Amino acid sequence: MKKYLVVGTGFSGAVLARQLVEHLPDCEIDIIDSRDHIGGNCHTERDAKTGIMLHKYGAHIFHTNRKDVWDYVNKFASFGNYKHRVIANTNRGIFSLPINLLTINQLFQKKMSPEEAKIFVRNLGDHTIHEPQNFEEQALKFVGKEIYETFFYGYTKKQWGCEPKELPASVLKRLPVRFDYNDNYFNDPYQGIPVNGYTDLIANIINHSRIHIHLNRPFIKESDSSKYNHIFYAGPIDGYYNFSEGRLSYRTIYFERIDAIGDFQGNSVINYTSMNENFTRLCEHKHFAPWESFETSVVYKEFSKETGESDIPFYPKHLVIDKEIFSKYNAIAMAEENISFIGRLGTYRYLDMHHVVEESLDFARTVIECIRSKSCIPSFSVK
Ligand code: UDP
Repeated sequence: MKKYLVVGTGFSGAVLARQLVEHLPDCEIDIIDSRDHIGGNCHTERDAKTGIMLHKYGAHIFHTNRKDVWDYVNKFASFGNYKHRVIANTNRGIFSLPINLLTINQLFQKKMSPEEAKIFVRNLGDHTIHEPQNFEEQALKFVGKEIYETFFYGYTKKQWGCEPKELPASVLKRLPVRFDYNDNYFNDPYQGIPVNGYTDLIANIINHSRIHIHLNRPFIKESDSSKYNHIFYAGPIDGYYNFSEGRLSYRTIYFERIDAIGDFQGNSVINYTSMNENFTRLCEHKHFAPWESFETSVVYKEFSKETGESDIPFYPKHLVIDKEIFSKYNAIAMAEENISFIGRLGTYRYLDMHHVVEESLDFARTVIECIRSKSCIPSFSVK
């Protein structure tokens, strides 16, 4: 029997472990997590007081345009129909997100048609910017100063703790801008939330006689490295190398709980986009499960800060300095033979759950082929 170690019980480790045991009859997998629960930052649990399903590390909405990815997660859980709609509380009033025709007409107090709005917004854009080099330029080029300042500047500064011009343009490219009244936050055709939560979904993925789960079990490099044929590591890559090339920057999120009666805010997520408040958003968790009903309510006020040594990293920042540091870790990792880095933290990328599932399914195919042909397993899950 070959023995593999998977470090981390989030989506990347869970999907990979499952695919490996299903396709390789002669292997056993230990999957470990330093926390006392599986699921990583997707972890959900029912609140002991109210029974509401809480997304303990913030809102997670599963969405994908890949049918195979959607079919895969649906094999392990039943998904409730949930369409994500976000409201913006700004210093100009309350608006609908992502930026859509209602947002544009209300902000500028107009009654434009889609075509008129397209021309209007195009004229707001800064045409002196040709190739946007950062978040701010991306916003100014495509939506102009007024929309940028109302919806993006303050939120982004609070969320990332730096000026938006220090961030890559790709962060803003996550958000659609629409010229119709569609206010679905995502473009993907498949969208939902598992009715029994993400922890249950991930527990089902790793429920297999040859996958052994160990919680409260940190990775110990000295002893673990020699015990396994290969290690798949979903923790932060800089931590794995004991920060030898420097610390990569991540933002972490922390929450303040508000208990309420009835409907607190009328929507699952309200973003606070100005600098007048020091938090980024309020999430009212019962609205993530519209198929359930509760008289009470639990709201998480979400704050963002730099990740300290004992904090859980959430968002890779990807500043210029991070790119330099990461390239050093990348070079060291590429020379390794018995470890592969996977997932958001292992590969230091701002990935969503569906990206991670997609990538783990693809990577598992590569790993299986390598094992069968006795060739070297790649150091990263990313192609
Ligand atoms: N963003 C913003 N204002 C908003 C929502 C998002 O400026 O009201 C920016 C912000 O920089 C954020 C990024 O767009 O980090 C991506 O937003 P998304 O909602 O995808 O963030 P996530 O849900 O992953 O935290």
